[in-house]
Amino acid sequence: MDSSGGGPRDVVLLGSTGSIGIQAADVIRRNLDRFRVTGLAAGGSNPGLLASQAIEFGAEVVAMERAPAVGTVQEALRAAADRAGGGAGRAARPLPKVLAGPDGVAEVAAWPCDVVLNAVTGFSGLGATLAALGAGRVLALANKESLIAGGPLVAGLARPGQIVPVDSEHSAIAQCLRGGQAGEVARLVLTASGGPFLHRSRAELELVTPEQALAHPTWNMGPVITVNSATLVNKGLEVIEAHLLFGIGFEAIEVVVHRQSVVHSMVEFTDGSTIAQASPPDMRIPIALALGWPDRVAGAAPAIDWTGSHTWTFEPLDEEAFPAVRIAREAGQAAGTTPAAYNAANEVCVEAFLTGRLAFAGIVDIVAQVVSEHDGRRGGTVALADVLAADRWARDRARELTGTRVRRVPHRVDAASRRGESAG
Ligand code: NDP
Ligand code: MG
Repeated sequence: MDSSGGGPRDVVLLGSTGSIGIQAADVIRRNLDRFRVTGLAAGGSNPGLLASQAIEFGAEVVAMERAPAVGTVQEALRAAADRAGGGAGRAARPLPKVLAGPDGVAEVAAWPCDVVLNAVTGFSGLGATLAALGAGRVLALANKESLIAGGPLVAGLARPGQIVPVDSEHSAIAQCLRGGQAGEVARLVLTASGGPFLHRSRAELELVTPEQALAHPTWNMGPVITVNSATLVNKGLEVIEAHLLFGIGFEAIEVVVHRQSVVHSMVEFTDGSTIAQASPPDMRIPIALALGWPDRVAGAAPAIDWTGSHTWTFEPLDEEAFPAVRIAREAGQAAGTTPAAYNAANEVCVEAFLTGRLAFAGIVDIVAQVVSEHDGRRGGTVALADVLAADRWARDRARELTGTRVRRVPHRVDAASRRGESAG
């Protein structure tokens, strides 16, 4: 363990089978002198991958949120151990302890280690964030939803520097902040790719399909964050995340559309100087920096190739077509449990959209309505019970509202037959 002097840093990977988790595993695999995986957790939908990661890295403990997956994971662990059996040192290693359910995931989040990467998706990552912070671990945070929904609860639990951002924008800001004193910071400027529907009008957004929303122009990510990038809800969440991580007022956090996703964010200082962080869109860079923080991991991913020419563009966000950032600002300013309501309503709407029960434009409409109706704790401290109640209320209300909007879904067959095409 790194903290006991010099050896590899012990890492727990939560959400190890997802987009971020797999890229974190890649960084660790190439840097075994720097990192050692002690624990892994996932939802349980890919037991084979979870088991092979556990055997490959020699994890001490593995958890899955869905208990019925335990038997399959145990079987897969034995099979993966058999396959790896011949490898030097591997045969002698005992199989990892297997835990299940949200409590099992939380136990892994508090497992002895130097840094916990929380790359679980959505509000279900809150338990892990609280467990890791409560156990005093450094938290490399990809699961922004737990910070946003937990708000003052999570921020209050973390000691300064205990949460290290994985989100590329916030990693960029953390790097840029190394360039000046806290009192010299004028504004944070978050960049947004604009998603697949940039420059479309509100009316044009009504008819987009899940397939189109899932085709992100620059990043390859899990489905929820990909839809959140298309609605710009992700950028809204990131504005709140930046406020909570860096203690900067909402009026001093800007969003600018930067199509190429190479400049990951910027910090403007009081003298008129702006420092930007740039790298190709590859999450392994912010992941590696968070795991090694404050040190960089050499060769985490390729740098920008300056032998070719590049054009970087920056433009203001069309807040009329994409009101998600403005609504997030309002939710963030209301503070208390309002950001939890914003996030919960969005999670319900994204699920409804991906399963064909809600039109794309309905996502942000419903999030706006749920936020405006939310009568939660504003400002001040919030307890876990408040966060859970706000989350539950917002989910119920969003479900009611998605039910009333069901007829607005652009049915693909209808849309095609209206144009006289076959619905293949
Ligand atoms: P994915 O959907 O690809 O992966 C999610 C992972 O979390 C899977 O391993 C999944 O396991 C696991 N999981 C889901 N629910 C639970 C649960 N209740 N307990 C334990 N594990 C669970 O998501 P991403 O990797 O794209 O995103 C993860 C987080 O990182 C999100 O908060 C996202 O906003 C953030 N992020 C992602 C970026 C990216 O480039 N992907 C960029 C910046 C932030 P299973 O599949 O078995 O359910
Ligand atoms: Mg981001």
